[in-house]
Amino acid sequence: MLFRLIRAAAIPAALLAAVLAPAGAARAQGSLNLYCSVQLEWCQAAANAFQRDTGIRVAVSQKGSGEVLAQLRAEAGNPRGDVWFGGTGDPHLQAAEENLSAEYRSPSLDQLHDWAQKQARDSRYRTVGIYAGALGMAFNPELLARRNIAAPACWRDLLDARFRNEIQMANPQSSGTAYVMIATIVQIMGEDPAFEYLKALHRNINAYPRSGTGPIKSVARGETAVSVSFVHDAVTERLGGFPVSSAVPCEGTGYEVGSMSIIRGARNLRSAQRFYDWALTPAAQQLGAESKQFQTPSNRATPVPAEAPRMADIRLIDYDFAKYGASAERRRLIERWDREVNALP
Ligand code: PLP
Repeated sequence: MLFRLIRAAAIPAALLAAVLAPAGAARAQGSLNLYCSVQLEWCQAAANAFQRDTGIRVAVSQKGSGEVLAQLRAEAGNPRGDVWFGGTGDPHLQAAEENLSAEYRSPSLDQLHDWAQKQARDSRYRTVGIYAGALGMAFNPELLARRNIAAPACWRDLLDARFRNEIQMANPQSSGTAYVMIATIVQIMGEDPAFEYLKALHRNINAYPRSGTGPIKSVARGETAVSVSFVHDAVTERLGGFPVSSAVPCEGTGYEVGSMSIIRGARNLRSAQRFYDWALTPAAQQLGAESKQFQTPSNRATPVPAEAPRMADIRLIDYDFAKYGASAERRRLIERWDREVNALP
């Protein structure tokens, strides 16, 4: 009927094509700029599925958690992103405190695990937990065997001379993973002993790459023997066919509440809210495992992938997210690390 009416009005063919083409329909539904701090495969899978479900076109920009925070600050007067999806929770809390993200209470909040709802409450509803994952050590068992080096089991093992120049961790200025490691060591040891530990560790570090997944990819390629990484990342590499094992440090370890925030001043606010609600559904959360990323999902109804490290079996510290996600504390610890550790020869 619609088609006949249009024909009757003798609308030019080009215009008719534009009205009927799927791309035209998607444009009519709006667009979304997604800043994404999980691995690119998941970012892309989320963008494609949301676009398919809603007709909203998604442009993805993938960057580490600390890098997105720096970008939000730089763009505060003229925001270009709408939603920040994934990445460690501390910089999302810092963004909330610095008024870089917008308050939003999803109707799905009560479907989430307590730790994910707590992240929302701690930020006065400017962010929310979408997954959790424990920090640990990854290593290449083939490389260690060739060099006749025993695998690390504890944080203190990483200081041993057998790991001289064999370890990578990311740079905490750009990587949320590396900041979780520093905050974890501070919470386990106390601040001054933690910095003595990080200085001693520096002797065994061969590089501080930008991204949190850089070090484990070097382990997978056999370029370095050991990395400080989330243990779920070791599962991803193993499934990719690489010789990567992981250990949870004997002293206990920290964890992340991977988070999502709507960016203050988002130009596509309605699309941002739709994405936010959609990303909390079990169907959307399963895209993580389908993209071979095995964090523990935050919706209680999302199946925990069989491959995901069992959080209940890991000796987790009582990570103080409110304290270590506070803007002044996070900035202070990263600056101290830069001054006292990164500046060492
Ligand atoms: N990739 C995975 C699989 C993660 O779990 C996380 C943490 O949320 C990140 C990337 C974050 O990376 P970065 O340490 O570069 O901020």
